[in-house]
Amino acid sequence: MPVKTADGKTLVTLIPGDGIGPECVESARRIIDAAGVKIEWEVRHAGESVFKQGVPSGVPQDTIESIRKTRLVLKGPLGTPVGYGEKSANVTLRKLFETFANIRPVRELPGVKTPYSGRGIDLVVVRENVEDLYAGIEHMQSPGVAQCLKLISRKGCEKIVRLAFEFARSEGRKSVACATKSNIMKLTEGMLKRTFEEVAKEYPDIQSWHVIIDNCCHQLVKKPEQFDVIVTTNMNGDIMSDLTSALVGGLGFAPSANLGNEVAIFEAVHGSAPKYAGKNVINPTAVIGSAIMMLRYMGEFDAAAAVEHALIVTMESGQHPTGDIVGYDNPKATTTTAFTDAIIANLGKKTANYAVRSHKPIKMPELPSDPVSVRPKQRRVLGADIFVETHLLPAELGPKLEALAEGNALKLKMISNRGTQVYPAKGAITDCVDQYRCRFVLREAAGELAEASLMDLLNKVAGSFRWMHVEKLQEFDGQPGYTKAQGED
Ligand code: NAP
Repeated sequence: MPVKTADGKTLVTLIPGDGIGPECVESARRIIDAAGVKIEWEVRHAGESVFKQGVPSGVPQDTIESIRKTRLVLKGPLGTPVGYGEKSANVTLRKLFETFANIRPVRELPGVKTPYSGRGIDLVVVRENVEDLYAGIEHMQSPGVAQCLKLISRKGCEKIVRLAFEFARSEGRKSVACATKSNIMKLTEGMLKRTFEEVAKEYPDIQSWHVIIDNCCHQLVKKPEQFDVIVTTNMNGDIMSDLTSALVGGLGFAPSANLGNEVAIFEAVHGSAPKYAGKNVINPTAVIGSAIMMLRYMGEFDAAAAVEHALIVTMESGQHPTGDIVGYDNPKATTTTAFTDAIIANLGKKTANYAVRSHKPIKMPELPSDPVSVRPKQRRVLGADIFVETHLLPAELGPKLEALAEGNALKLKMISNRGTQVYPAKGAITDCVDQYRCRFVLREAAGELAEASLMDLLNKVAGSFRWMHVEKLQEFDGQPGYTKAQGED
């Protein structure tokens, strides 16, 4: 919850960011100040300028301390080296403060012509914000094979799903769709779907449905007006929300809120767009929209509505289009500062043609802090997948592993290469790489794997092959806690 100073101002950490960030953030700050909201801004830094000072995380300690104190952040985008170098300072900020939900609304705006104009797009992507592939837990498995772990927790799913329904209620929205790839990733993406279906029963006032993520994108392009709130995993939500921003005119119009139980960070969906940096031409609407979301989070509902009205009145007038709407070489295109000045001049005016939605505070889900969220009645280990690096082809590797397992409680069941069974051969035409998953299961199907048997087998495998990691094959309450390879019976 926001923190106030003795004289009643709300403390907010302001991170100008990289590229176009400082221009966008300054625009939003000027508008908030002009709207008369009492804020004490603490300017702090993160991102490229901090990497250059030699701080590998891109988030210096004084920024962390400021956020721990204010618990509220308005930030510009931060540049991240693409395909090399340090990790994203953005993602670091989101994860450091457990802002588990990223709320990304898009709505058709007056004066912004798109192929969808007139169809009333008004939808919100609620993206899980700290788990999934986005955790960026990566390892080279062999010099030529990379792996990224997709970790999804039941607790994380429950938090994001509850938040999506609570957010829908806070805005008076009617439906929540859950978009997953659970037809393929049955355990990870499937966990979000299963949790959604359970939690949805507690929100009978809101329509709920599941949609496979690829069809969701298809439906978003074909008939976007059918969606209200969409809840999804981190990576899906990242990609999908750039798509949804384009439905209403582009990234210049897409705000977002990163919400956690302790801290909230408000920022545009867009990045630092370096080619426009310092030119005073970009559209600040996305950061202004994020600032409006921040005002609502602060409980400043009237000020938020006043800024939203002023923004819409300015856009309706059509007198101050930014270059992304009319083309940067169009003489009609206005500057970022002129657009901001026009919004400030329009504070106090109301739009008649655009309904500014009424909001209630969001009830944040508060789950127990216990790290254990699922306690099965029964569990057992019935095998293990051992991942090895080898230049051998499956027909040579299989018999060698079978020989190594002789006398062990475990036997080789199959070998897969990038998820497809290649041993025993079943006719698959697989262009093998030098990383194999070797699945060993108990010879006695009903038993429990003893650690000593696994260690003994691992020692033998290690004597002949480089191994990278081992995954135990577990069952919880009789349900397999692993999936089969493609082609495995
Ligand atoms: P980007 O910065 O979002 O820019 C992509 C394109 O979106 C721009 O070239 C521009 O399109 C349009 N655009 C973005 N913001 C706009 C605005 N305010 N007004 C008008 N048009 C806008 O994406 P990127 O080029 O892929 O990424 C650049 C850097 O930003 C990378 O280092 C990336 O890691 C980082 N990033 C940071 C965040 C964050 O801080 N939350 C998010 C995403 C990316 P046109 O070229 O069509 O004019």
